[in-house]
Amino acid sequence: MKMQVTEIAKAVQADNAEQAWPDVNVTGVAFDSRHLTAGELFIPLIGENDGHKFVQNAIDNGAVATLWASDHADSAPTAIPVILVADTLKALQQLGQYYLQKINPKVVAVTGSNGKTTTKDMIASVLSTQFNVTKTHANFNNQIGVPITLLSMEPNTEVVVVEMGMDHFGELDFLSRLVQPDVAVITMIGEAHIEFFGTRDKIADAKMEIIHGLKEDGTFIFNGDEPLLQERSASVAQRKLTFGLNETNTLAGSAVQTSRASTSFKTNLWPDETYTIPMMGAYNVNNALAALLVGNTFHVRPAAAQKAIASFIPTENRTEWLTGADGEAILSDVYNSNPTAAKRVLAAFSAVPTNGKRIAVLGDMLELGEQADDLHASLASELDPSLIQSVYLNGSHMVALAQALADKYPASAIHYYPTAGQPQLIADLKQAIGADDEVLLKGSHGIHLENVLAALEV
Ligand code: ATP
Ligand code: MG
Repeated sequence: MKMQVTEIAKAVQADNAEQAWPDVNVTGVAFDSRHLTAGELFIPLIGENDGHKFVQNAIDNGAVATLWASDHADSAPTAIPVILVADTLKALQQLGQYYLQKINPKVVAVTGSNGKTTTKDMIASVLSTQFNVTKTHANFNNQIGVPITLLSMEPNTEVVVVEMGMDHFGELDFLSRLVQPDVAVITMIGEAHIEFFGTRDKIADAKMEIIHGLKEDGTFIFNGDEPLLQERSASVAQRKLTFGLNETNTLAGSAVQTSRASTSFKTNLWPDETYTIPMMGAYNVNNALAALLVGNTFHVRPAAAQKAIASFIPTENRTEWLTGADGEAILSDVYNSNPTAAKRVLAAFSAVPTNGKRIAVLGDMLELGEQADDLHASLASELDPSLIQSVYLNGSHMVALAQALADKYPASAIHYYPTAGQPQLIADLKQAIGADDEVLLKGSHGIHLENVLAALEV
């Protein structure tokens, strides 16, 4: 980006906006002084730490100006221009919105319980065949990440694809009104963060907030296989398009085939074409359908969209195949887990061809509240002893799954470890693994299955 300090002070309605500012160009923003590069504006945020404390580091890294909370004015630096505001986070959001209005690209907003990042990356890949596109970097999808995404736009950006996450009511309302999408996408409704909502109905209500800022002539694209979204879409006045596997959807996928490295499918709109995604997991078909529908809304040529889907590069290492020290294949998904995602991945893993055994290592799924035990036990539906021969469970909630599996698995095939028992799990797992085996690792980040992964890799 390129803005003058004067312009920024006005955009954030700085307490000292009227002061005379030096002629300084700002080329970007950073809230983490360690990641600030020369020419950028420092935005100290107050979270666990108070970002104001790191301003000297920001200056050393080349910050040319800084936002600054007025109630911290006593400690303001003197080496660079200081823009005083009541609330630096609010100022970041105001600045993001100002810059968005200045560049004025089309806005695609993506939310959903699962698949946001994957879908965002696919949409960006499809639209990039015809437009200058900026997308959310990695997973920067909250009240800080969204304005940061906006401020990362090149001035020639024609479409910005913004991932939006939430775990409470009101968050998507805020983000949607901030960016005023031309296209709003809901990938699916799952059970993630149900602790804060109580029911899937309430999760659907909260996701629907993504249309609060949708432009009047905008388009709402959602998973039409989800009845909770179908019901709620009835009151949406804007244009509506749906995707999914049911034939009644605007864009329906069928003939899904998945292998270890890719997934293919057909569609109703372009029945002669076979689409291939360079990722395993039938659930990714939904993500691709959403992306194709967005592409169609922007009149991307079907052949170009097909190619873009086939060659898109996911930014994050989710469901990644790795090789362990003993030659075993490891399907690593250690950063995030929730019931729907875990079931989908177990189904995909069960279908992967193997010459050895399939072993699932599952860690607790966090933030599920009162329903945690039932939801852990529900994974049993996707565990079949003829397909996944042994199961290693880690974490206090996984007891419920161990119990649910007791009927269909021999006791010797179910290995349960409390949270603190991870070192023993690692030792036992290493003993049991053979070179031809396939190992799935999936758990919430708080359970740290990355330690198991690290141990298997050495
Ligand atoms: P986060 O909330 O961490 O930002 P996300 O919504 O961005 O997650 P992705 O990073 O795209 O989701 O995918 C994370 C995991 O969710 C995948 O590895 C897979 O297990 C599962 N997943 C992805 N897409 C879907 C889908 N459409 N339906 C169900 N599960 C999915
Ligand atoms: Mg994400």
